[in-house]
Amino acid sequence: MKKIEEYVTSIPDFPEPGIIFRDITSVIGDPDGLKLAIDSLDDLLEGVDYDVVAGAESRGFIFGTPLAYKNGKGFALVRKKGKLPRETIEASYDLEYGSATIEMHKDAIKPGQKVVLVDDLIATGGTMEAAARLVEELGGKVVKIIFLIELAGLKGREKLAKYDVASVICYD
Ligand code: 5GP
Repeated sequence: MKKIEEYVTSIPDFPEPGIIFRDITSVIGDPDGLKLAIDSLDDLLEGVDYDVVAGAESRGFIFGTPLAYKNGKGFALVRKKGKLPRETIEASYDLEYGSATIEMHKDAIKPGQKVVLVDDLIATGGTMEAAARLVEELGGKVVKIIFLIELAGLKGREKLAKYDVASVICYD
């Protein structure tokens, strides 16, 4: 059986020179790769008590929704600013140049709910740190943050130090 690493395509110099982009379309495009990815993420949730899964646009949706379905939970969307139709709260985070803003519907998380956050990849950790702030502002508790891929060299875990963080595979 192939490992997850073997389904990931590494693209040098994308989106900029010097960056190696880890492309997960080749993971989810393969039936065995997709199953392995979802099942491996699900393994990270063993023993975790949670009510809802939340994922960040857009690849967090791909992995988060089947996980929620598989475990009989709901799924909450973390979207880029301006996409959600009802009342939202927002959080901003720094990018290399400038900043980005994400939003959640005000009723996406009920006070007291235990939330698992999911994304395909952690780089600097900025996206998930902002998503965790949104969940907490809505009264939720972040009980676990999981990723398919971790780029350890960017030290994103340090930004998420107060949370329980796990990833399926890790690159330096
Ligand atoms: P961070 O906020 O941790 O710096 O960046 C993580 C976000 O950027 C994630 O939502 C992720 O989808 C995206 N991202 C950054 N680099 C890569 C990459 O090499 N591959 C993929 N698939 N996504 C990336």
